[in-house]
Amino acid sequence: VIEMGTPDRSVITTCAYCGVGCSFKAEMQGDQLVRMTPWKHGKANRGHSCVKGRFAYGYATHPDRILSPMIRDSIDQPWREVGWEEALSFAATKMRGLQEKYGRRSVGVITSSRCTNEETYLVQKLARAVFLNNNTDTCARVCHSPTGYGLGQTYGTSAGTQDFDSIEASDVVLVIGANPTDGHPVFGSRLKKRLRQGAQLIVIDPRRIDLVKSPHVRAAHHLALRPGTNVAVVTALAHVIVTEGLCDESFIKERCDWDEFQQYAEFVADPRHSPEATEMLTGVPAAELRATARLYAKGGNGAIYYGLGVTEHSQGSTTVMGIANLAMLTGNMGRPGVGVNPLRGQNNVQGSCDMGSFPHELPGYRHVKLPEVRAIFEDAWGVEIDPEPGLRINNMLDAAVEGRFRGLYCQGEDILQSDPDTKHVAAGLAAMECVIVHDLFLNETANYAHVFLPGSSFLEKDGTFTNAERRINRVREVMAPKAGYADWEVTQLLANAMGADWHHTHPSQIMAEIAATTPSFAGVTYDLLDQKGSIQWPCNETHPEGTPMMHVDGFVRGKGRFMITEYVATDEKTGPRFPLLLTTGRILSQYNVGAQTRRTENVIWHDQDVLEIHPHDAEVRGIRDGDWIRLASRSGDTTLKALITDRVSPGVVYTTFHHPETQANVITTDYSDWATNCPEYKVTAVQVSPSNGP
Ligand code: SF4
Repeated sequence: VIEMGTPDRSVITTCAYCGVGCSFKAEMQGDQLVRMTPWKHGKANRGHSCVKGRFAYGYATHPDRILSPMIRDSIDQPWREVGWEEALSFAATKMRGLQEKYGRRSVGVITSSRCTNEETYLVQKLARAVFLNNNTDTCARVCHSPTGYGLGQTYGTSAGTQDFDSIEASDVVLVIGANPTDGHPVFGSRLKKRLRQGAQLIVIDPRRIDLVKSPHVRAAHHLALRPGTNVAVVTALAHVIVTEGLCDESFIKERCDWDEFQQYAEFVADPRHSPEATEMLTGVPAAELRATARLYAKGGNGAIYYGLGVTEHSQGSTTVMGIANLAMLTGNMGRPGVGVNPLRGQNNVQGSCDMGSFPHELPGYRHVKLPEVRAIFEDAWGVEIDPEPGLRINNMLDAAVEGRFRGLYCQGEDILQSDPDTKHVAAGLAAMECVIVHDLFLNETANYAHVFLPGSSFLEKDGTFTNAERRINRVREVMAPKAGYADWEVTQLLANAMGADWHHTHPSQIMAEIAATTPSFAGVTYDLLDQKGSIQWPCNETHPEGTPMMHVDGFVRGKGRFMITEYVATDEKTGPRFPLLLTTGRILSQYNVGAQTRRTENVIWHDQDVLEIHPHDAEVRGIRDGDWIRLASRSGDTTLKALITDRVSPGVVYTTFHHPETQANVITTDYSDWATNCPEYKVTAVQVSPSNGP
């Protein structure tokens, strides 16, 4: 509880950090926020919160906020503060001019998974209905785009299958590539509670995360795999399940495509996928792999939770499909306690993807190539929609360097700090003639911007966020927008400055448009949200009360589809010059690149990133605990302090990426997932050597 005065009113709203989506009561005295407490009726958090959410008000009211629009003709000029009208007119004229000169596909937008559904919907609509192209992408590109592809292929929709309550019926919980107690703390606490009640835990992670061994919780199995070998491990588990007769044949026959199952079973049964054959490659003892597969298949209700340690790989989509295969093989689907659940890093990753911010999909995951889908939006928007999928973020940057992409509207996302291969991002931005940054702070991307539009924090707007369990939560205006407009209003003003005629007066009207065009949201209204507190999509005629659990009687795509998961080694190789593998993650008190949490009380608990290194690797390099070290890869180098620990295995080092001075993305490679271009942040060959400091 943060107390600074006596409140005279309160507003229920939703945390803007992680995909748990905790509800908070924000209490005000006049126009001052005096207290934020977790709301006991919040269905995702039931009165709990973590240290990030509690102090989130700090960044919203931080003096670093930019509250005036700014423009400049070129990035070597100083910023000039102007009024909203001048800034929007400047931006609109520049973007229209670029389209006239270079063609309508020469500009695009990047949306943020931090923004509301309504804001995201309007930004992708700006691209499609005003720019008249599909150049729209989201920062989900760099985190959970493989979830979209993998679960879409196997089950038919890109969403977690369960609600958080489902954990209470789990007997075995398999956590792969996620660290819930740090990344999703309120869910992590719920998971620990279930483990204390007797559920068994399997952790697949190169690092010994807290869940592996903490007071009252101990994993039955920790598979400390070599980074980059997820697919081999998951396929080896499937090998054991198939060859030892542990499949749920009746589920497979009833719910899945039998021919595809047989092909898959033949594939995984091949001896080259056996635990013994993959032990050397993965670093996981064969006996552990066998015991893990048996426990997951026969331990009762088995639930899988995964995170960016699965997706941010060159085979991220393959691993997601492998995980989906495991659940189908064992019949762990369609009832409480089971399922496949991506733990979404940001508050509205699910919603950002639902709202059509990918360049190939309109809202509701429907491909832009389908004429019947385009017709729905053409009717609603009164324009002809480009049938060609647009550019992904990395394609926009490539095209900018090649001179084919000239203008970008980037809302709530610092691509220079968040995206891989910082030098390439900078080159792409520098090559553009108009970069519009719409954000709370002058972030790193703004160094390359020509227009800066001040953003509104989560406390300054109405809207909705959709959490990791597809729960649509209301975001409510606690205080008036500090810069004068909420983000959805700014996007609308920009669209109108470019010739559109949008006239929403409240985000509830945008939700009405979403409901009218998107079947899974057809029944969602603000009235219903206020009445029920929150709703899990699909919410429509068939499911008027929403849908806590997916794929109960059948998969969204009809029959579940087994996908072949051939392991292909990443191109990122260790060698004499770069003998260690770097992997990355988050810490409890900080969030992503720290733009928000570094501007809150949370810096008390974490003021710098460190490199975790195994005692053996430190000793052979003459590195002591707390020493400065140089961390170098083929892409670049940085300096940080060493933390000697056996949480990491020999040959593996680990760091967080919360502080800009760490420049983690100077180190990472430009390799990415084969299907979605999600960057391979989790595997980088590095060398570590003593240093005198930065
Ligand atoms: Fe809840 Fe996540 Fe916010 Fe923490 S960061 S309060 S777990 S939504």
